[in-house]
Amino acid sequence: MQLPIPGQSEALLRAIRVSQAVNRVRQMPTVFVANPLLAVFIALSYWERADHLSLVVFVAVMVVLWTPAALSWRRLRKLPRPVDVSPRNEMRALIFSAIAGTLWAIAAWVLYPVGGTEEKAMLVMMMSGLCAGSVAFFSSSPVASMLFFLPLMCALMVQVVRYDTAAQPVLPTAVGVFTLCAMLFTRTSWFQFVESVRILVERDEALKAARANRSELETTLAQMQDLAMVDQLTGLKNRRAFFDDAEPSISASRRRGQPVTVAVIDLDHFKSINDTYGHAVGDVVLREAARRIDESSREEHVVGRFGGEEFVMLLPFTTAQQALNAIERVRKEMSREPIVVPDGPTLTLTMSAGIAPLEQEMPITVAIDHADKAMYRAKNLGRDRVEVFGV
Ligand code: GH3
Ligand code: MG
Ligand code: MG
Repeated sequence: MQLPIPGQSEALLRAIRVSQAVNRVRQMPTVFVANPLLAVFIALSYWERADHLSLVVFVAVMVVLWTPAALSWRRLRKLPRPVDVSPRNEMRALIFSAIAGTLWAIAAWVLYPVGGTEEKAMLVMMMSGLCAGSVAFFSSSPVASMLFFLPLMCALMVQVVRYDTAAQPVLPTAVGVFTLCAMLFTRTSWFQFVESVRILVERDEALKAARANRSELETTLAQMQDLAMVDQLTGLKNRRAFFDDAEPSISASRRRGQPVTVAVIDLDHFKSINDTYGHAVGDVVLREAARRIDESSREEHVVGRFGGEEFVMLLPFTTAQQALNAIERVRKEMSREPIVVPDGPTLTLTMSAGIAPLEQEMPITVAIDHADKAMYRAKNLGRDRVEVFGV
């Protein structure tokens, strides 16, 4: 019997089948007790009329059949929760259902004609109750459910049709109604199961989609944040990022009573590069100049491009004199080797810089302004040099 099942999420389906198997195992003690008890009860009811040996054999076989179930339940109870349903275990459950159902069918077939009206009525009621229980027990596996209750209900059905139908119309009707109910119950519970799987699969997929969307959104946000903080041409910090990063460096220096210095760097005669070779060549040179400034500065220095070909550097834990040495290194590095523009000119680039100390309580913008003034003095004094503000 193949009933449709949504197959999008294999892992989820497997998890659901595992919990159904686990639930079935949990119900086993009830089923184990109910079946042999029922067999004993029926044997006692038929004791006066039926062959004693057959009744004893029937009860014994029932006990033997359900004992392994109880034993395996005790063993299963101690095991960790399985992560997969074993096809072998499923097949064993199907065979088990078929044997139990057949055994009950044989009992019904043999005992029904023997009983009087009361025994017949009792047998039908017992079997119907048994079927209802079996459907509940095997409901998630329609095959197992059918294998269990169909043989015995068929046996009863045939018996009640063949015997006393005219005299006892209630019994065949009852058997028919119970068989129909059991089949409907199996079908309904199966579709309920399929529906819950479908809902879980859909929820699973919605969750996956939401997660994918979220990570997409996070990537875009991170990219936007990067775009907002990084100067696109040179990869250096932009003005905003410079101020953001300068703040903790300044606080750390001030906390320890250490000096802080700022420097402003401007490339010399840069406009003429643009004018002579074009803006594209200017961009290549600008990128290389930024790389040289960045490479020749220390890791703790905060370097930013403030627009055009002007750069600002914050040097924490550094006096103006030490900063002068540091920026001199940058200046020498700038012109040490000419810049080779691929498919373009080879140019020697120089820079002018101004240095100013960031005094206690002084806003950084004021120190930058001072450094800018010193930089202009360097320009006026012939360029390719570094000047210190106030010296
Ligand atoms: P000075 O030595 O006095 O600094 O002379 P300068 O020519 O460098 O003068 P200034 O600093 O005023 O000129 C800046 C020039 O830099 C103007 C502009 O053409 C150029 N520039 C600014 N931003 C960019 C850029 O992103 N790419 C390129 N290629 N050029 C830029
Ligand atoms: Mg310039
Ligand atoms: Mg400039």
